[in-house]
Amino acid sequence: MYYVSTRNKGTKKLAAEAIAQGLSRDGGLFTPEVFPKLSGNALETMRDMSYQQRAVYVMKPFLDDFTVSELTAYAKRAYGDNKFDVKEVAPVRQVDDGTYCLELWHGPTCAFKDMALQMLPHLLVGSLTKNAEEKTACILVATSGDTGKAALEGFRDVDKTRILVFYPHGGVSAIQELQMLTQQGKNIGVCAVEGNFDDAQSGVKRLFSDEELRETLAERGYFFSSANSINWGRVLPQVVYYVSAYCDLLRDEKIQPGQKVNVCVPTGNFGDILAAFYAREMGVPLGRFICASNQNKVLTDFIRTGIYDRNRTFYNTISPSMDILISSNLERMIFEFTGRSDAEVRSYMEQLAGQGRYEVSDSVRARFQENFSAGFCDDDQTRAMIAKLWNEKSYLTDPHTAVAFHVLEEYREKTGDDTPTLVVSTASPFKFCSDVLTALGEQDIAQGTDVIAQLAAKTGVAAPAPLAGLEHLKSHAPLLSTPADMEKTVLDFLS
Ligand SMILES: *Cc1c(COP(=O)(O)O)cnc(C)c1O
Repeated sequence: MYYVSTRNKGTKKLAAEAIAQGLSRDGGLFTPEVFPKLSGNALETMRDMSYQQRAVYVMKPFLDDFTVSELTAYAKRAYGDNKFDVKEVAPVRQVDDGTYCLELWHGPTCAFKDMALQMLPHLLVGSLTKNAEEKTACILVATSGDTGKAALEGFRDVDKTRILVFYPHGGVSAIQELQMLTQQGKNIGVCAVEGNFDDAQSGVKRLFSDEELRETLAERGYFFSSANSINWGRVLPQVVYYVSAYCDLLRDEKIQPGQKVNVCVPTGNFGDILAAFYAREMGVPLGRFICASNQNKVLTDFIRTGIYDRNRTFYNTISPSMDILISSNLERMIFEFTGRSDAEVRSYMEQLAGQGRYEVSDSVRARFQENFSAGFCDDDQTRAMIAKLWNEKSYLTDPHTAVAFHVLEEYREKTGDDTPTLVVSTASPFKFCSDVLTALGEQDIAQGTDVIAQLAAKTGVAAPAPLAGLEHLKSHAPLLSTPADMEKTVLDFLS
C-alpha cells in the first residue's frame, strides 16, 4: 500500500518511507492512497481484545510492509508493561446518559500525545531498518506544551535517534515546562524559542525544507525526521483509540451494533479529530465530528464560513495546547474534501503561506459542513465548565477537555441532537492544576509543584504518579533561541 503527498499525488511512498521522512519534500503530508476497510465482523472480533491487540488489528492493513509480529512487539512496548496506569490504556468513562469520555491521558506524560508518541519511535526505528538507513535520525519537534514532553519520553535513549524540542518561551504551563526540563536521556535537547507556538512550528518547517542544511547534516551523518502530528506514524496510532472506544461501547452494551456515535474533540493541529474521520472511513459508525476550539477559533470560523484566516489576534489561553492558528493536519482533510485534488490543495496552501488566508470552494465548504460542527469558548466559560462537571458529575477535567464539554453542550442545545457522544479527554487535570483550582473556586494557589498536592487534597482525586514525583527531579536550563537562530541551535546540538 502506498502513501501519496497531499500536494503531489505522483509522489508515492511505502509506509516505512513515509514515516521515516515525515513530511513530503513538496511540503505536502503523506496520506494513504486508499483507506483499508474493516471487515463486516471486525468490530465484533475486537470487542474482547486488549488495547494492544486492537492496535495491531487496526494498524496492520495500513502498514503492509511491517509484519504482525513486528507490530505486536511494538504494541507491547508502547502500551504494555505498565506504561499506562490503567490496563485498558484508553478507558471510556460514562459521564451521564449518552455522554462518554474517552480518557487518553493515562500514559507516562499524562497527555493524549502519549497514545501516538509511545508508538512512533518503534514505527520509525523499524522503518529506518527496513530502508537500510545508516544515518542517525534527528527528530525536530515544535510543541505547544504536551507533544514535547511526550516525544522526549518516547524517544529517550532510542538508538539511532537524537531529539530536539522547541517550545514557545512563556507559552506553556509551569508544569509542562518542568516536565520537559526534567527529562532524562542522552540523546535529547530542549529549547525555548522567543515567540508563540506558530513561530516555533514555522521555524521547524523552515529547517525541514532547507536543502543546504540537509546537506551539511548528511555530511555529519544525520537526517531530519518529524514527530509532529504531520507524521503518518503519529496519526495512525490515533485512529486506534476511536475504534477501541467504539468496541468498548459495544462490549459494555451502551450502544447497539451499527449505532452512530458522535465525537467531540478539543482541537488544535487537527490531528486528533482527523483520526476520528479516518476511523469512520475504515467503517466505524461515527456520526458528526464536533470540533471544539478555545478563543483561538480559526477552525470554528473556517468550518462555519469556508474562510481560513490566520490574520488575527493570537491569545494565550488556559488551554495552551490548542493555542494554534495554523492547523497543519487540516490539509489532509481538505485533500479528501477536494476529491483528492493535489492542485487545489497546493493553491490553498500557497495562499496560506503568502497571505495567511484562503477560501475553499463551495463544494469543499459543503463537505465540511456535512461532516463537522464547530464551536469555541473563552477562558471564563472553560473554568465554569470545569466547576460544573466537578459539582454536578464529580468528574474532574483539565481545561482542554472542558472546552470540548462546553462546545458539546452548546451544540446539543442548538441542534437537539441526542446521539450518544464520545468526548475526547486530552490531558490529566493535574497538568493544569492552578487553572483547575481557580475554576473550583480556590483563592490561594500554592507555588510551584505544590499545586499538585493542593488539587489532590481539594478533590480527593489522586495525582498521576509521574506528576506527583516531579518535584523530586533535577531540572536543567533550556537552550534559548530566537526563531531566526533555530538553524544554529540545531547545528550546535548536532556538533
Ligand atoms: C495536542 C493537544 C490538543 C490538540 O490536539 P490536535 O491533534 O493538535 O488537534 C488538545 N488537548 C491537549 C491536552 C493536547 O495536548
